[in-house]
Amino acid sequence: MQVAPNVYVITTLSFSNCGFIVTDEGVVAVDTQLVPLIAREMIKEITAVTDKPIKYAINTHWHTDHIGGNEAFFPEARIIAHELTRQVITQRRKDQEEGKVDESIKQLGEFKFIPPDITFDHNMTLYMGATRIELKFLGGGHTGGDIVVYLPKERVLFSGDLFIKGSGLPDYRDDSNIDQLIASLKKMQGLDVDKIICGHMVIAEKKDIQESIDKLLAFRKQVKAYVDAGTPPEKAADSIPFPSGENPFYQQNFKKVIYKVYSDIKNSKQR
Ligand SMILES: [Zn+2]
Repeated sequence: MQVAPNVYVITTLSFSNCGFIVTDEGVVAVDTQLVPLIAREMIKEITAVTDKPIKYAINTHWHTDHIGGNEAFFPEARIIAHELTRQVITQRRKDQEEGKVDESIKQLGEFKFIPPDITFDHNMTLYMGATRIELKFLGGGHTGGDIVVYLPKERVLFSGDLFIKGSGLPDYRDDSNIDQLIASLKKMQGLDVDKIICGHMVIAEKKDIQESIDKLLAFRKQVKAYVDAGTPPEKAADSIPFPSGENPFYQQNFKKVIYKVYSDIKNSKQR
């Protein structure tokens, strides 16, 4: 689906979204899907639009459903991500080679984790002919190294999973953090955009970000009551209901989300 001149989003290949930008200097892909098999479908969709070469594939964060297809792009296209994203993927590649990945990864079949070969810490700009592509680290929160892909002229933002329309939960894994996530979303509100391509579900507008911030703040408050009362996280996990309209992916991991937020709040100085 075309969302701006030369900017495309694909929402139909799996439960994760991806996209691509066609420039005078070649194509830039955003996220590479779960496995190379699906990434090759993505490449088919790209080559149906343009015969320009795919120069870069950006990984918005390390979660497998956004980077598992890197192998289908690399080395013809170079892979760009935040330095922390590279570190995690490099470790996962090592674990994979040593047979130490968990069952859910083994079930994906034959594929190799390919770490990004271009990284940055704060911001990076790709000048591709007339197209300016800004890669920004807003402070993370969904993972330690979330980046967003910002096209100032086209007023389009690829938000990765940092912002998912309607969602107001952080991730449950170690490098997520609810306060960083809220702070990053507030920074995101400062970008001049008309369309936001979220990592999952639907395309959003800037006004939708506030709803996620409000939901995160409400959820934080809910969990904080347990922290403040000295009630153990188990009790919070048993009592807090799954928020309606939430990304269904988090349903099965909802208790883990509560545990993570509980510890984020406990470890936060600004409780
Ligand atoms: Zn994710």
